[in-house]
Amino acid sequence: MAPPPMVDDPGNVKVVVRCRAFLPRERAKGTQCLIRMDPATNKTTLLAPTDFSDSSARKAYEDKEFVFDKSFWSHDEADPHYAHQEDVYRSFGEEFLDHNFDGYHTCIFAYGQTGSGKSYTMMGTPDNPGLIPRTCEELFDRIRNEPTPNTSYHVQVSYFEVYNEHVRDLLVPRTVPPIYLKIRESPKDGVYVQGLVETEVKSYADVERLMKVGDMSRTTASTKMNDTSSRSHAVFTIRLKQITHSLLSDETIERTARMRLVDLAGSERAKSTEATGQRLKEGGQINKSLTTLGRVIAALADPRRHNPKGRRPREVVPFRDSVLTWLLKDSLGGNSKTAMVACIAPSDYDETLSTLRYADQAK
Ligand code: ADP
Repeated sequence: MAPPPMVDDPGNVKVVVRCRAFLPRERAKGTQCLIRMDPATNKTTLLAPTDFSDSSARKAYEDKEFVFDKSFWSHDEADPHYAHQEDVYRSFGEEFLDHNFDGYHTCIFAYGQTGSGKSYTMMGTPDNPGLIPRTCEELFDRIRNEPTPNTSYHVQVSYFEVYNEHVRDLLVPRTVPPIYLKIRESPKDGVYVQGLVETEVKSYADVERLMKVGDMSRTTASTKMNDTSSRSHAVFTIRLKQITHSLLSDETIERTARMRLVDLAGSERAKSTEATGQRLKEGGQINKSLTTLGRVIAALADPRRHNPKGRRPREVVPFRDSVLTWLLKDSLGGNSKTAMVACIAPSDYDETLSTLRYADQAK
C-alpha cells in the first residue's frame, strides 16, 4: 500500500500552554499569580502585576489575552480544572502514539524559560510521570497486549543534544574536548546524524536507563538565573519499526515511525541572566534555534500566511536556518504531527509574555 502523499496539514500542528504551580519559595514570599485560564474557551490571560510600589513602572504593563489549542491549568491542585500529567498525556500524547503505530512521525517540544516546567511536562517525577514515560509505557503495553497479527516490532532509541549549533551524542561517554557529530543528508535516509548511537530497547526500564545516562551527560552550565539552567536542546528519539508479513500475498510491509521528544533550552533572553562571553554566545545560538523553530512551526501551522494565493511551498519553510530544525525536518510537517507545549511560570510577567508571544506566533 503506497503511503499517502506528503501534505502539510495545518491541523497536524498543536500549540498548547501549561501554567505550573508556585514553587515553595514563591508561595513563601506571597507571590502574586498573574495567570488566568479558562479551560472552556482555552483562553489564557496574563495579568498586569499590581503589587509594586513604583507607579511609573506600572504603566509598562497591561493585561494580555491569548487563545491556544489547549490551556492546561496546573497551578492549583484544589481547582476542579487542574490539569494533571495524565490529562496532558490524554489530550495529545495518546493520539500521537496512535499516529506512530499508523507509521507516521511525531514531535513534541517543551518550550519556556528555565524553571517553567519543561522537564516536569516531558519527564515528570517518579510519582507524577510526564509525557515520555507515559508514551513509552503505553508503547510497550500495546506491543505486548495488542499486537497486529504476523507483525514483529523493533524499538530503538537515540538521545542527542544540540548545543551552540553542534550535535553531541548523549549516549556515549563525554570526552574533553567533546566529539561533535556531522549532519548528513541522503535521498534514502533524509537528514541524519552520522555515527549517532541507536540502541535497541525491549521495555520502559531499558528506556529509562538510557535517559538517565543521557541526562547525566547533558550540557548544563551555571547562570545567574538558575544553577542547573539547561543551555542545550535535548532530542530524545524513539524509532518504532513494524514488520508485517502478509500470509496471503507473501509480501512484507515495513513501517518506521519516529517519535521526537524535545526538551528545549531555556528561552530566557541572554541579557536577563547577565550573561557574558561564552554564555552570551550560547544565548545567541539558543535564540537562533528557537527563533527558527518558531518560524518553521508558524509556516507549517498556517501555510498560506505568507502566500495568500495558495499553499506555501515546502522549500520556503526555513528548516535549514538552524541545526535543530534541519535535523527535525522529517518529523515536522507533511504527515507528521507536531505539538509545542509552552510552559509558563505563574508570576514572571516579562518572561511569560515572551513565551506566550512565541507560542502565539507559532500557532
Ligand atoms: P524546566 O525544565 O523548565 O527548567 P522544571 O520542569 O525543572 O523546569 O520545573 C521547575 C520546578 O517546578 C520543579 O521543581 C518541578 O518539579 C516544578 N513543577 C513544574 N511544573 C509543575 C507542575 N505542573 N506541577 C507541580 N510542580 C511543577
